[in-house]
Amino acid sequence: NRQWRLAARPVGNFKDSDFTWHEEPVPDLADGQVLVRNIYLSLDPTNRIWAAQDSYLPAVPLGDVMRGVAVGVVEASRHAGFPVGTFVQGLLGWQLYYVGNGQGLTPIAKIPGHSLLLYHGVLGAIGLTAYFGLLDIGRPREGETLVVSAAAGAVGSMVGQIGNIKGCHVVGIAGGPEKCRWIVEDLGFDAAIDYKHEDVAAALTRYCPKGIDVYFDNVGGAILDAALARMNNFGRVVACGAISQYTSEKPPAGPANFLLVISKRLRIEGFIVLDYLPRAQEAIPQLLEWIAQGRLKYRLDVVDGLEQAPRAVQKLFDGSNIGKLVVKVSDE
Ligand code: NDP
Repeated sequence: NRQWRLAARPVGNFKDSDFTWHEEPVPDLADGQVLVRNIYLSLDPTNRIWAAQDSYLPAVPLGDVMRGVAVGVVEASRHAGFPVGTFVQGLLGWQLYYVGNGQGLTPIAKIPGHSLLLYHGVLGAIGLTAYFGLLDIGRPREGETLVVSAAAGAVGSMVGQIGNIKGCHVVGIAGGPEKCRWIVEDLGFDAAIDYKHEDVAAALTRYCPKGIDVYFDNVGGAILDAALARMNNFGRVVACGAISQYTSEKPPAGPANFLLVISKRLRIEGFIVLDYLPRAQEAIPQLLEWIAQGRLKYRLDVVDGLEQAPRAVQKLFDGSNIGKLVVKVSDE
């Protein structure tokens, strides 16, 4: 087997030295076990949380295989629920082969005409996060203004497009001119704010003349504060992520504009997509239909080779990924 094991708790962005490469023979299967060859490994901002501390899941113990979501194929099985040839998705880890009892693995079907990458592109966690986060928690109505941060990322780019489909005025916040061009020209956002080169507060006033009804927050920090200041009465803030805080050594400061939550009667609600997995079948047919209609586009940033994972995951925190970041571990 070939594995990346967690060697150190990260400080700031990940460093190559936070992981060690490990090779060992694949063990024989015991009764009830399954052997999965990983094909595509998803790299996610939450990897930084898992490596650093206990959160909604316990921290990855030092020396263990790094936790990660992947899709793979069953190559040997002593488990009746997972026959050889079944494609599966789940916490398969940063490794070529997973050996285990299959707990938490979900069988997936290859969708005709699509690569298995679809399960990282929109199906699976990303699509469900965007779909349920926006529709269940943000509850946008036609004609309302939706603002989303990390808007050229995997989740953010989906959120903006679903907002469009629901008839919202959609403004994205992203880093750099290329990302801003992409979300407006190719994805149909109404406007984009380049937070690295523009004053976000002033731009929100300019592009949201009727105020903000739904703010889908992926970044926290100063951008959350700027959005809070422009929320309309009874607005909804979807607390999806706070990537600007993940690499910080200090706990995040509370938003300076917090008292507006009271006077504007705002609702701020966090969620974790894992709670929505049982409802996946509500979302997936709809997401597939929007893809088929060309109304929902997704972009993948695929890095070749498991060896690259520690370097590639750093892209999420320096912003050099566009769209969903995935490592190709082996051939489909
Ligand atoms: P993305 O594809 O959006 O990649 C992360 C992006 O975040 C980067 O490309 C970068 O874009 C942006 N970013 C990085 N650092 C900063 C910073 N300091 N300030 C502002 N933006 C920054 O990743 P995902 O789509 O996978 O995740 C987006 C968010 O959604 C994350 O916060 C993640 O934790 C959260 N999430 C939450 C889930 C849940 O269940 N609640 C499930 C999945 C994701 P740029 O160049 O624009 O800065």
